[in-house]
Amino acid sequence: MQITDESSSNTFNKIIELFFEKEKVGINFPLNDIILTDNIFQKVKELQPTLFTEEHFNKNQLLECTGYTLLFKNNTATVLIKNDDFTKNFLWIETLVHELTHVKDFNDYLPIIKENNFYEMLHNIPFWYWTEFHARYKGYVYMLEFAQRLPEPYFQQYINDSMKRIEDFNTLFNGHEDYHLKIYYTMHLMGEILAYEYKGINIDDKSIAKENNWFDKMKEFLRKHTENVSISDMLLLSMNANKIFCKNG
Ligand SMILES: [Zn+2]
Repeated sequence: MQITDESSSNTFNKIIELFFEKEKVGINFPLNDIILTDNIFQKVKELQPTLFTEEHFNKNQLLECTGYTLLFKNNTATVLIKNDDFTKNFLWIETLVHELTHVKDFNDYLPIIKENNFYEMLHNIPFWYWTEFHARYKGYVYMLEFAQRLPEPYFQQYINDSMKRIEDFNTLFNGHEDYHLKIYYTMHLMGEILAYEYKGINIDDKSIAKENNWFDKMKEFLRKHTENVSISDMLLLSMNANKIFCKNG
């Protein structure tokens, strides 16, 4: 596996090594490559054009994202990371670990999910919800590990960004966006909040719980599944999420 930009390769390799070590990733990890690119959209078009014909495919999401994992029918994956100024902040650590976690999840769950290959697993909605939660959680745990060591005003910026997403949640929940996307954002926010909790950092999410009586219960459920999940719990999460969000979707 190679990283195609030498200037960033040292720091990148350190995070990848840390991830492989902590998550006990073996030599059979099905990763083809990690590609740094200025245009993720273009790269996806180039490497996997069939994705654009998929029903679940969201073009706008691809235009906004900073990382993307391409999953192939031969059960390998290629991670795309947006080429950015990596000295600006540690958000790229979240992106990198997030995408690597997806690869690990697809690999770990392929034998237990009744799908033929990585590409077809993309259609498995219950798995998608959980892996989005898991990837965001892991991404934030790794990122906070570094962000926590920054001087207070710099670290505060990470908390402010998360607080903004917490404040905006009720608007998102009551908005008219596709309910799958709302659940996707909710899974991300849950992962983020539980990562702060794991790192012992207090983050106030009461404004969500006050308006949404399901919130604390879902958080409690996900707290038990930050490392892995059974198929039945995956389905339970998906059924509950669909019930809650379909009403507003
Ligand atoms: Zn993701």
